[in-house]
Amino acid sequence: MTKCDIAIIGAGPYGLSVTAHLRTIKGLEVCTFGEPMCFWQRNMPTGMLLRSGWVASQIADPNQSLTLETFQTTSRNPISRPVPLDRFIQYGLWYQRQAAPDLDQRKIVRVESHQKGFRLILGDGETVISRRVVVAAGIGSFVRRPPEFADVPPSLASHTSEHRELRQFAGKQVLVIGSGQSALESAALLHEGGAKVEIVARAGRIRWLGGSVSSTLNHGSRLLSRLLYAPTDVGPAGISQLVARPDLLRPLPRSIQNWLRHRSIRPAGAHWLIGRLQNVPTNLGRSIVSAAPVGERVKVSLDDGSKRTIDHVLLGTGYRVDISKYDFLAPELTKAINRFHGYPRLQAGFESSVPGLHFVGAPALWSFGPLMQFVVGTHYASRSLLRHISRKTASGRVRVAESSLGSDDSVLALKHDN
Ligand SMILES: Cc1cc2nc3c(=O)[nH]c(=O)nc-3n(C[C@H](O)[C@H](O)[C@H](O)COP(=O)(O)OP(=O)(O)OC[C@H]3O[C@@H](n4cnc5c(N)ncnc54)[C@H](O)[C@@H]3O)c2cc1C
Repeated sequence: MTKCDIAIIGAGPYGLSVTAHLRTIKGLEVCTFGEPMCFWQRNMPTGMLLRSGWVASQIADPNQSLTLETFQTTSRNPISRPVPLDRFIQYGLWYQRQAAPDLDQRKIVRVESHQKGFRLILGDGETVISRRVVVAAGIGSFVRRPPEFADVPPSLASHTSEHRELRQFAGKQVLVIGSGQSALESAALLHEGGAKVEIVARAGRIRWLGGSVSSTLNHGSRLLSRLLYAPTDVGPAGISQLVARPDLLRPLPRSIQNWLRHRSIRPAGAHWLIGRLQNVPTNLGRSIVSAAPVGERVKVSLDDGSKRTIDHVLLGTGYRVDISKYDFLAPELTKAINRFHGYPRLQAGFESSVPGLHFVGAPALWSFGPLMQFVVGTHYASRSLLRHISRKTASGRVRVAESSLGSDDSVLALKHDN
């Protein structure tokens, strides 16, 4: 049996960033579990480009030394913009080797309450007792599959997250459902890979994200753009500045927070997809009414009465956070967490209503706003957690380097893309 002060479940951008920050607390025993960057390596398509800009794709670290720039210099291999997925994965793995070289890649199969905090059971049966737990397990458990596809096997209708290689669909007819980045980029990659693609989406139009500060703008327009858009690159003009500051967002009435969230993360595609999709037929304002297998193919009916029988349906239908779907959380523990529509209600330091149990990343969105759905949210989350934990443990036993604490304000920590 191993003991630690804080166990971090997850080695994606959030788990790694939180690890790097908490390790600045002298004397604090931090154990981190998970396969590094595995969601990015297994559940996103080859050839993908990051939707977030250069600045917003930096994983926060306490000394600003584990940046994309440093990685680029160290690897002696320039990174193009938008950042390609494979380069971002390499960056994440490099970050992990610096910040968490002793990462334990074993899976946590159970977390339950214990008189000293929490008992974690690993895949091989080993037990870890930890005073606190930070859940940074990502969105992989929250895949959203529309009920219309309940009777269609995954071989005929699959979620975008199930594919690494979309080239397997070359020569096939594929219907892509959705109008978010994942659906649109998958449609572009399928089309470029030789599939016959059609997009169907409920939205009446596709929203394109323009990029906050374009190098093609003149000086005045760039200044205005910088005023309206925070470097965090989440949300439309003006709103972007507000959602970049969770401390300002949190006290607002819930109805306003919900509206801001809706405006910031509604389905949209990066502007660089426009040209790549111009020859892909797009059927907007339409919903799927039914879907059924027909031999080796799938028949889909739309609400305009039209039907098509195609080789495959790719569901770009996103994710719906529901922490009860984290199968490693003991049901009694999940039940004890104060939740709203699947999200834990979090207090300062990303702590849930179960003392010592923290959530970062997408599950923190309801409490800290849309930033938490993106890598850029690591800046606020990690600093906030560091402050909280250092105060809780500061009773003389541990000391934090003051310079690591900085400010929680994500905007102050970042500068715009040039
Ligand atoms: C197609 C697609 C494109 C995206 N593009 C962008 C983008 O351009 N920019 C952006 O900011 N965001 C993007 N996102 C969102 C992105 O997924 C999140 O920003 C990011 O992954 C959040 O990091 P995370 O650390 O919370 O989760 P993840 O990166 O998913 O990491 C989760 C970690 O938890 C570990 N884990 C899970 N369960 C266990 C367990 N039981 N035991 C041990 N370890 C466990 C995993 O091994 C993994 O290490 C995109 C998402 C998708 C689906």
